[in-house]
Amino acid sequence: MNQPDTDRIASSRQAADRLREAGLRATAPRVAILTALSTDRRHPSAEMLLESLRPGHPSLSLSTVYTTLEVLAQRGLIRRLGAQGDRMRVDGTARDHDHAICRECGAIFDVDRGVLPRPSPPVTLPDGLHVEDVHIEYEVICAACGRGD
Ligand SMILES: [Zn+2]
Ligand SMILES: [Zn+2]
Repeated sequence: MNQPDTDRIASSRQAADRLREAGLRATAPRVAILTALSTDRRHPSAEMLLESLRPGHPSLSLSTVYTTLEVLAQRGLIRRLGAQGDRMRVDGTARDHDHAICRECGAIFDVDRGVLPRPSPPVTLPDGLHVEDVHIEYEVICAACGRGD
């Protein structure tokens, strides 16, 4: 049995509730995308999401996916990852964790913050920047890519 993960959304009804709590209307594309992201642990790009949603949502367009991801990220329902290559990738949970990204294939892995020691960030940075959080991105070679050399 999987570890219960309270931050993930189990059904489209829950996704709709989550949207309303964030002050958004629960439109069909928003519900579909938020629900899909709750189980999609690939940290998908908009293109990857569209591909997986298209069978059930034939009228969904790439621009709708992009716009929806923007809105969801702004409301903190999902997290936008630093651009890997040219594509935006998103994370279905806003829960704090770090990432390890494979240098070879670009696969993105979640790294639980409880597992490894992390630096404590300063309160401020030069230029009057107030530090809210720090994210670590590990550059790795994943098991699949490291095999056979
Ligand atoms: Zn890899
Ligand atoms: Zn993640």
